[in-house]
Amino acid sequence: MKVAVLKETNPNESRVGLVPEGVKFLMKKEIQVVVEKDAGLDAGFLDSMYEGEGATIAPDAASTTAGADVVVKVLPPAVTEVGVLAAGQILVCSLQPSANLDVVRALRDAGVTTMALDLMPRITRAQTMDILSSQATVAGYKAVLLGANAVGKFLPMLTTAAGTIRPAKTLVLGAGVAGLQALATFRRLGARMEAFDVRPAVKEQVESLGAKFLEMDLSADLEDEGGYAKELSKDQHEKELELIAGSIRDADVVVTTAQIPGRTAPILITREMVESMKPGSAIVDLAAETGGNCELTKAGETVNHGGVLVLGPVNLPASMPYHASQMFSKNLVTFVMEMRNKEGSLNLDWGNEVLSGVCVTFQREIRHGPTREALG
Ligand code: NAD
Repeated sequence: MKVAVLKETNPNESRVGLVPEGVKFLMKKEIQVVVEKDAGLDAGFLDSMYEGEGATIAPDAASTTAGADVVVKVLPPAVTEVGVLAAGQILVCSLQPSANLDVVRALRDAGVTTMALDLMPRITRAQTMDILSSQATVAGYKAVLLGANAVGKFLPMLTTAAGTIRPAKTLVLGAGVAGLQALATFRRLGARMEAFDVRPAVKEQVESLGAKFLEMDLSADLEDEGGYAKELSKDQHEKELELIAGSIRDADVVVTTAQIPGRTAPILITREMVESMKPGSAIVDLAAETGGNCELTKAGETVNHGGVLVLGPVNLPASMPYHASQMFSKNLVTFVMEMRNKEGSLNLDWGNEVLSGVCVTFQREIRHGPTREALG
C-alpha cells in the first residue's frame, strides 16, 4: 500500500496532512509514503525529516500521486488539482462538501474515492479520527492568545511593588471543544472566567475548569442525538441575549465559538452589547467564517467599535501549523488504518459507520453530502 502526501496549494494554508512521526508509524505497518517536496516546510517539517523516517520525496504533485492508493491533504483540492488524481485513488482530506460543490463534482467525475474527515461521525470510537475536534482545540487555545494580546491588560492577578492588578474577567460563549480549550487556556493565564452554552450537559465540564456557568431555564432539550446544539426558538434566543448582556458589560476578553451544524452561526452579541463594554476590551469570534456570533464581526478583519476590538480570525489552526499538523496527522493515520483489513490490504467495508459516514464520492457516485440536485 502506498500513501501520497500533497503540498497545500492555498497560500494561506501552512499545515501538512502527515508529519514525519506519521510516516514512521505507517512504515512500521509496511505502508510506503511519498511526500511532495517541501510539503511540510511551512509547518516546520523538512523533507530530510520525512526521508529520515523512510519516506520518498517527489518533485511535484503529479509524481507524488502517481501509483498511490491513498492521497492525503489538509484542505480540499482546487478543481484544477483534481487532475493529479486517478480513478480509484482514495483522497483523504477536509472537504466541506456543501461549500465546495465544484470540487465534489470534479472528484466524482474523475472516479476518485473521497473521504471527508470533517464528516467524521461523533461517536466515541471515532474520536481519534476527528479533525474537527483536534483543530478546534488549536483554535480555542489560539483565540485566547489573540484576545490576551489585543487588550492592554494582564489576565492574572498580580501583587507587585508597583501595585496590585486585579485579574481580568473573561467570557466564553459556546463550551464545545474550542470553548472548553479556551477556558483551560484562560485558566492557565489566571483570568476569572464565565461561560455559557445552550447544552446544560456542559455545565459540569465548565465548572471543573474553574469557570462560572451562566444558567438559564431553556425548558427544552437543546442537544441533538449527535451531541450538537439545536437552534433556539425566538423566545429562547431573547432570553439568552439578556443573560449574555448581563455578563458581557464588564468582560475584558470574550471568546465566542457557538455553531449550529449546517447553519449560519447564532448571533449572541449585539451591537448594543458591544457598546456596553469597556473600551480596550476584545471579542474573538471563532464563528467568523460561518457568519459570526457578534453582529459586528467581519471575517478575517479586526473591527474597532468605540475602542472595543472585534476580531474575526479565519483558519486559526493554520496559524499554529506545527501542532495543528501533528494532531491532523494523528487523526489521518488512524483513519488510514481504519481502511485496512487484518491482512493489511485496503478494504472499504461500507458496513463500517466511520467509512460510510465520511465517504462523499465513490465509483462516480455521491454516497454522502450534497444531493444530485445541488450538484446539478
Ligand atoms: P460546535 O462547534 O458545533 O459548537 C460549539 C458550541 O456552541 C457547542 O457546545 C454548542 O452547544 C454551542 N452553541 C450552539 N448554539 C449556541 C447558542 N445559541 N448559545 C450558546 N452556545 C451555543 O460543537 P463542537 O465543539 O464541535 O462539539 C459539540 C459536542 O460534540 C460536544 O458535546 C462534544 O463533546 C461532542 N463531540 C463528540 C465527539 C465524539 O464523540 N467523537 C467528537 C467531538 C465533539
